[in-house]
Amino acid sequence: MKLLQDKVALITGASKGIGRGIAIQFAKQGANIAFTYLSSIEQGEALAAELEAFGIKAKGYRSDASSTLQAEELISNVSVDFGRIDILVNNAGITKDNLLMRMTEEQWDDVMRINLKSIFNTTRAITKVMMKQRSGSIINITSIVGIKGNAGQSNYAASKAGMIGFTKSMALELGSRGIRCNAVAPGFIETEMTGKLSEEVVKGWLTTIPLKRVGTADDVANACVFLGSEMSSYITGQTLTVCGGMLT
Ligand code: NAP
Repeated sequence: MKLLQDKVALITGASKGIGRGIAIQFAKQGANIAFTYLSSIEQGEALAAELEAFGIKAKGYRSDASSTLQAEELISNVSVDFGRIDILVNNAGITKDNLLMRMTEEQWDDVMRINLKSIFNTTRAITKVMMKQRSGSIINITSIVGIKGNAGQSNYAASKAGMIGFTKSMALELGSRGIRCNAVAPGFIETEMTGKLSEEVVKGWLTTIPLKRVGTADDVANACVFLGSEMSSYITGQTLTVCGGMLT
């Protein structure tokens, strides 16, 4: 029996990186997949067919996670297309790094809108669906930077710390309705987002990782499979770090 057999999962920002990795691992575990993309249209459109090769139903939606209206339309369309939603993975996110003294208001606002407001948008809309089902698992992809901070990433760190506070609040609000809410905090994961960093910065990070390698999208996806499955049915309000021990 596959861990997510016949569950319906919605994953935001799955055109590449960690979101794509989660979509593939979920499909391998038997879940039907609804996913979003925004600017990577070709990659987004190609993913549905790739996922269907695992024998599940998959559909992509072009939707901006930071738009409240689009998030509401998305949840409503996925509910109609799939009949239910068991797992929501709030993965869409960006970085716009700068030292605070040089950070523009736009850099601050963009990161807050796309990383933090987005989870308000999707979660508020999906709770109606999950409350009716009296079950659901919400997984928010935060970051170890939201726990420890990082110079040059005050906007990103604040947005990711905000996600952890939101996660705990949702666990308290929704637990009695059978809805769980947890966060996954990746460390240094090899994706386009971290591909922007210089070799020197990457080497510096590597020295701080006890497992002596960078993480992969699959490392994060495996933690999400656990939190989406019945294996974690008594776990809510927690933040699971996937960082090779970096935060230890
Ligand atoms: P990535 O490769 O840059 O992918 C980001 C994804 O988010 C893309 O699919 C992108 O879609 C989507 N996205 C961005 N803005 C969006 C919006 N407004 N609406 C909908 N989708 C949007 O980044 P990643 O490394 O996979 O990161 C995924 C998540 O993990 C982020 O929340 C990030 O903060 C978190 N994280 C990453 C690391 C790491 O080391 N990589 C570590 C800790 C946490 P389009 O390209 O189609 O626009």
